[in-house]
Amino acid sequence: KKVLVIGGVAGGATFASQLRILDDEAEIIVFEKDGTMSFANCGLPYYLGGVVKKEEQLIAATPESFSQNKNIEVRVRHEIIKIDRPAKKIIVQDHIKNLRYEETYDQLILSPGATPVVPEIEGLAHARCYTLRTFEDMLRIDQQIKENNFSSVCIVGGGFIGLEMAENFKARGLEVFLLERSSHVMKIMDNDMGEMIEKEIVNQGVHVYTDTTIKQIENNGRTMHLSNRATIHTDFLLLAVGVKPNTALAEQSNLEIGITGGIKVNSFMQTSDPDVYAVGDAIETIDFITHAPKRVPLAWVTHREAYIAARHITEQPLPFKGVLGTSICKVFDLTVSMLGHSEQSLTEQGIPFKTITHYSRQHAGYYPGSEKLTIKVHFSEEDGKIYGVQIIGKDGVDKRMDILSTAIKAGLSVTDLQEIEVAYAPPFSAPKDPINMIGYKAY
Ligand code: FAD
Repeated sequence: KKVLVIGGVAGGATFASQLRILDDEAEIIVFEKDGTMSFANCGLPYYLGGVVKKEEQLIAATPESFSQNKNIEVRVRHEIIKIDRPAKKIIVQDHIKNLRYEETYDQLILSPGATPVVPEIEGLAHARCYTLRTFEDMLRIDQQIKENNFSSVCIVGGGFIGLEMAENFKARGLEVFLLERSSHVMKIMDNDMGEMIEKEIVNQGVHVYTDTTIKQIENNGRTMHLSNRATIHTDFLLLAVGVKPNTALAEQSNLEIGITGGIKVNSFMQTSDPDVYAVGDAIETIDFITHAPKRVPLAWVTHREAYIAARHITEQPLPFKGVLGTSICKVFDLTVSMLGHSEQSLTEQGIPFKTITHYSRQHAGYYPGSEKLTIKVHFSEEDGKIYGVQIIGKDGVDKRMDILSTAIKAGLSVTDLQEIEVAYAPPFSAPKDPINMIGYKAY
């Protein structure tokens, strides 16, 4: 069996490794168009902030280690430019030797990821403007800051990457301006939660402009005229306004694209061609709660999909159950986490819901280090089904979110949260944990 993989980072490298564990005979070749495989995308902001000291720390594997340890061939700087499905072959552009060749497959896996969206802004072409997606992007931004002694940045977009970068650029000593088009940062969360995040970043010295976009850029990209009539001056721009799935190859080869714009797959990650699988940021997946099509560009989801695809190819099928979109982000001293649907998302879908917001401490108030924790749960009044969770605090956020994510996947209702028997001692929780309190309040 010969299996070819397009994309050598999160989904592609994980799929290849998983397939090797399940099948020690398959011939596996991974193609990566950039120069670096299997790097930790999620760690890029922390290198730029100086938290991760060496760039090599972000590289999980190399073509050499894959070849030696896993008997998997990885060809970096090899870009797939066409898929010929009837002939079951791909056309490869070797950017090292500058030549083009074909490779046949029995099965093909697409994990080409996504591309940062670049909004149309007058004068952007003259600006020093960056996006952060690849290892090379990270090195470029780092080098430019050092070479040009940049001291200020305008981040466009107040989502996960924008917020993580605000913290990390601040840690580097830059003056940070952050623009968000919506009425609050982290717009996938509810307004009140977004306001808590905004308060934190303002307290940390970030200049935040919500309900604001850039109207025009002048002065070689250093002067930004904003929609709120203010003008700001910064050395460079970082665009963090979201990603679009890389579907060009799939579209060229007439694979079906879903209504959300991602490559359509079934619950085994097969595309509309059963010998072509797709995983990761490029695909459309299914919402665990509503079963509606959804795109969720996150690492857990990608890794799970890669495992599901490897299982199916080795004839040990295991269907994908859908995603909650469980996510977490460090925003200076806060931890911000959410899963499922926000008030806005539920309202837009016409789903009636009730909300409980519980303010407490992450552990016994008398024990040193006790901090505020805000937990918000949206659920169905009819059957207690949990639709969405948002948590903000300084400590203990990840534990509660992981419990709630597990509870939802196990089919527990909001009142079942009373029954979660937590490990309690004063430094860790309370005899009634905040999670239990949500269950009691919902009853
Ligand atoms: P990628 O990992 O991007 O891999 C796709 C690869 O395919 C790319 O290297 C690309 O060069 C290659 N490729 C594309 N087209 C071709 C072609 N034609 N031929 C050959 N190769 C091709 N997720 C979280 O859950 N938590 C986090 O904290 C988090 N932080 C993040 C921080 C940053 C800065 C970024 C950019 C992402 C972060 N993510 C995070 C998202 C996570 O990294 C992605 O969900 C995950 O990488 C998706 O995996 P993928 O394989 O689909 O895409």
